[in-house]
Amino acid sequence: MPEMAQAGERVVRGVPVSAGVCRGRILVLTRPHDTSVPKYHVGEGGMAEQTNRLEQALMQTRQQILAVQEQVREGMGTKDASIFDAHLLVLEDPFLMEEVTGLMEREQVNVEHAFSVATARYIATLGAISDDYLRERAADMKDVAARILHNLLGQSEVSDLPLIHEPCILVAHDLTPSRTALLDKKLVLGFATDQGSKTSHTAILARSLEIPAVTGLQDASQELRTGQYALLDGFNGLLIVDPTDQTLFEYGQLARKHAAIQDRLREVRDQPAITLDGTRIILSANVENLDEIASVQASGAQGVGLFRTEYLFLNRATLPTEQEQYEAYSRVATALQPEPVIIRTLDLGGDKVLSDAPDSSERNPFLGWRAIRMCLQERDLFRNQLRAILRASVTGNIKMMYPMISGLDEILQANALVEECKAALQAEGQSFDPNLEVGVMIEIPSAVLIADALAKRVKFFSLGTNDLIQYALAVDRMNPRISHLYEPTHPAILRLIKATTTAADAHGIWVGVCGEMAADPVLAPLLVGLGVRELSAAPALVPAIKFILRRLKLSEARELADFALQCESGREILARCQALAKAIAPGLFEEPAS
Ligand code: PEP
Ligand code: MG
Repeated sequence: MPEMAQAGERVVRGVPVSAGVCRGRILVLTRPHDTSVPKYHVGEGGMAEQTNRLEQALMQTRQQILAVQEQVREGMGTKDASIFDAHLLVLEDPFLMEEVTGLMEREQVNVEHAFSVATARYIATLGAISDDYLRERAADMKDVAARILHNLLGQSEVSDLPLIHEPCILVAHDLTPSRTALLDKKLVLGFATDQGSKTSHTAILARSLEIPAVTGLQDASQELRTGQYALLDGFNGLLIVDPTDQTLFEYGQLARKHAAIQDRLREVRDQPAITLDGTRIILSANVENLDEIASVQASGAQGVGLFRTEYLFLNRATLPTEQEQYEAYSRVATALQPEPVIIRTLDLGGDKVLSDAPDSSERNPFLGWRAIRMCLQERDLFRNQLRAILRASVTGNIKMMYPMISGLDEILQANALVEECKAALQAEGQSFDPNLEVGVMIEIPSAVLIADALAKRVKFFSLGTNDLIQYALAVDRMNPRISHLYEPTHPAILRLIKATTTAADAHGIWVGVCGEMAADPVLAPLLVGLGVRELSAAPALVPAIKFILRRLKLSEARELADFALQCESGREILARCQALAKAIAPGLFEEPAS
C-alpha cells in the first residue's frame, strides 16, 4: 500500500469494511432529491457547448427510460410499461426546452442551473392547475427532470442499480442492506460510501458477497464523478482516484501476497477447528441468502451459526409464504446436514426495513420496533415463520434462535407460540422435530444481566456482539463519526461476555458468538479464553479463524482473557490480542507491500 499519495493521484480515506482490491471506473449514485446544482457564468462562446451537453443528457435519459421500460415490460407486462411513454414525451416537450435554452442565453449561465430553474417553474405551474391530467404531467415531469439533471451532473440515482451494465466501482452516499443484497458481483467490483461503518448490515453483506468495500468516506459521493478511474483498497479503507503506475504496481504486489495467504489458508479447510491442546471449537458460517450455501461448503465451516432470515423478506412486493420459507430453510438444512443450521427468527427493523424508504419513520430504529418485538406483535407473520422452521426441522440439523431478547417474558411468549404451532402441525398431520433446540441471541445488556434466568429456558446462547457493543457503549453501529468509540475490546464488553459464559456454564449450555467480533482472527483467541465455544463468521473469513485456532493453546487463550478481565484499557487489551495472534500465526498478518 502506498504510504502517501503519489503525484497526480488523489487518496480518499474511509473505514475498511470488506477486504480486497479492485480497480475500474467509478459510478456515482446520488440520493434522490439530494442534488446541489452549481451555477456559473458562461460567455457567448460557451453556449454551443452547453446546448450540446443538454442534447447529450436528453439522449442518455431517453436510453435509460427505454431500458427501464423494457425491464418493466418483461417483469410486469405492457400495460405498466406504457407509463413510461409519458416520460418519453417529456423529453420532446418543445416549450420546456425553449425555456431552458432561453434562460441560459439571457442569463449567460450553465445548462444545469438553467435547467433546474426552468423545470422547477414549469412543474410548479402545472401542479397548481386544478386539472388531474396536468397534475399527472407535473409528476412525470418531476421524475424525468431529476433524471436529466443527474445525467447533466454526471451522476446516477440509487434507483438505477438494475441499469448497471458495465463493471464499475459504486460510490454512494449510503446503500441500504436491501439494495446491497441486489448487487450483481459481476458488475459491481466494489463499493464505497460516505456513510456506514464496519458492523452496518451493508458492510456485513459486502463481506458475504466477497467484494471490497470502504465506508465512512464523508463526502466522496459529492466530490467524485462518474467515469473517473479509481482503485478501491478494502484492506486499508482507501479509494485512490487516478492511481499512478507506481501505485498500481504496488497493489499488484499486495494482491500476490494476499493470494499466497489464501493458498496457505486453503490447506486448513478440511482440518478440524481444534486448539493445540485439544479443545474443539465449532466454527460455523453466517449466511444471508441461499446462494451462499456453496461458499459455506467451500469455506470448511461446520454448518451455519446464523441464518439472517430477514433477507428472504426484502426486495419483494409480498411477504414470503410459509411454504416458500419452508423450502428455503430445508434447502440449507438438507445441503449442510449433518452439520447444524441455526435459523434466526425474523430480525427486521434497524437498518433492515421492509419498504424501500431510506429512512424509517422511527426516531431510533435500533431501539425500536425490531426483531422479536415486531414478531410478538405481528403474530401471523411470526407464526408462519415458526411453522416453516418446525416443518423444515425434519430435513436436517436445524436449531432456532430469537434475536433481540431483552427480558424473560419475550422468550416465554415466543416459546408459547412455538408450542401452539407444534400442536397445530400435529393436528394437521405434518411432521416436525419435537425436540427442536431453541436458543437466544444475547445482544442487549439486560439479557446478560438476567442470563441465569434465560439459561434455564434455552439450549444455547449466541452473542450478537454487533448490537451488544452498540447498546452497551451507546454507540450507533451505523454512524462513522463515532466509530472510534465502537470498541470490541472495551473492558465492559469483555465483562459482559464473561458474565454470559459464566451463567451458561452454570446451567450446562454452550455460548457462541455470531457478531463480527467472531470474524476477527485477532479476537478469536480472546473469545475462546472467555469461554466461547462456537464462532460464526462470513464464509470468506472462516479459514483465517480456523488457521489461528489450530495454532492456539487453550491455556494461552485463558491467560489472555484473565489479563483482559483485569485490564482497564481497551487499547491495551487489543494490543495483547494482536501480539498473541502475530506470535502464533505470523503468516496471517504479513504487512502489505510497501
Ligand atoms: C449482532 O448483533 O451481532 C448480530 C449478529 O445480529 P445483526 O448483525 O444481524 O444485528
Ligand atoms: Mg443483532
